[in-house]
Amino acid sequence: MAHVLVLGGGFGGLAAAHELRRLLPPDDEVTVIASTDQFFVGFAKLWDIAGMRPLSEGSRPLDGLGRHGIQYLQAEITAIDPATRTVETSVGTLTGDGLVIALGAGYNPVHTGLLGPDAYNLYDAKALPDIRTALVGLNEGRLLVSILGAPYLCPPAPFEAALLLDEWLRANGRRDNVEVAVTTPQPITLPVAGPDASHYLAERLEERGITVLTEHAIESVDIATRTVRFGGGRSLDYQVLLGVPAAAPRPTVATSALAGPTGWIQPDRGTFATEVERVYAVGDCTMVPTATAQLPKAGVFAEAEGKVAAANLAAELHGGDGATFDGHGFCFLELPGNQVATVTGNFYAEPRPDVVLTPPDNIGFENKRRWEQERLASWLG
Ligand SMILES: Cc1cc2nc3c(=O)[nH]c(=O)nc-3n(C[C@H](O)[C@H](O)[C@H](O)COP(=O)(O)OP(=O)(O)OC[C@H]3O[C@@H](n4cnc5c(N)ncnc54)[C@H](O)[C@@H]3O)c2cc1C
Repeated sequence: MAHVLVLGGGFGGLAAAHELRRLLPPDDEVTVIASTDQFFVGFAKLWDIAGMRPLSEGSRPLDGLGRHGIQYLQAEITAIDPATRTVETSVGTLTGDGLVIALGAGYNPVHTGLLGPDAYNLYDAKALPDIRTALVGLNEGRLLVSILGAPYLCPPAPFEAALLLDEWLRANGRRDNVEVAVTTPQPITLPVAGPDASHYLAERLEERGITVLTEHAIESVDIATRTVRFGGGRSLDYQVLLGVPAAAPRPTVATSALAGPTGWIQPDRGTFATEVERVYAVGDCTMVPTATAQLPKAGVFAEAEGKVAAANLAAELHGGDGATFDGHGFCFLELPGNQVATVTGNFYAEPRPDVVLTPPDNIGFENKRRWEQERLASWLG
């Protein structure tokens, strides 16, 4: 009988755990270890602040895994020893016959250190109540959405936030007095999706009167005067700042023997095997190079990688066919009016990702909603 430990209960971990449960014999055990007790998709945070749906309605408890024959242990993982497949946790030491590491990403501490009153981390679920309060009190001045560094999770999300909040301000009759701006240190809005998708997105923002400032890297934030300063002596004031910190490897990952010099794990980009037998790493805790940059840190990719890693680990434990990830995936791009476009294609293509943008429509929005509900129901229902 084998026991597999899945570290993390997000997209990568839940997809891997379910695939392992499907492929492994019933006697084998699958245990998910996570510090959180809930799962929700990332975009549910944007729907919450834009008044579309409270986060709680899109959240499911991880103890629902028990109904699927998967054990769930809520614990903080403090160290990983890949050679012995052992993890130290806040509730004791566990050793597995196989490991899937899916611990996600943290935030660059320099960037989170810039934030304070009236300047929030847009991606932090714990900040949502304060963000909502700040938005309710926003009657004039500038709402600034600023990407503080790259790579960051889900490349379109900061722009989607600006668009959804533009819509919310209009619906509340306040848009005439509130300017909306997005800043990014990158040269185009979506480098990971290429110039066409970037141009398309910039046009959608501009037609809503949202200012887009590329190549604007924030150097400091003066919380007292509510002013951000960029390189080159430029500055902007704000009433409310929603900052998006760059992703950073979590300390447990960065200090493990698996981490490369950057602190990310760099598994094989086809199989998601690490250099250690029966140890796999998937999702946002990894750095997966592509021809022009790296695979987007997105749930769609974490899920696909989790399934591939699970198939390969099951094959290592019991024989049979493994699986290979070919780089195909998509990103949702949500626009006002319940319209969703997708950027779809082969992110591993050479000499650059081969992706196409499908036009936005309400069917795309329904597909996005269904995509979320299917995962909540099949993983934790
Ligand atoms: C606003 C926003 C919108 C987004 N929109 C989309 C979208 O439209 N499409 C899309 O594909 N992606 C989207 N994403 C990105 C997506 O949410 C992430 O890329 C995805 O969650 C990554 O999955 P993961 O499994 O690698 O990590 P996570 O989902 O972050 O899961 C990590 C897990 O590890 C656990 N963990 C971490 N450290 C420890 C520890 N030390 N001990 C124990 N447990 C630990 C956490 O509790 C969690 O359960 C969005 C993200 C945000 C913030």
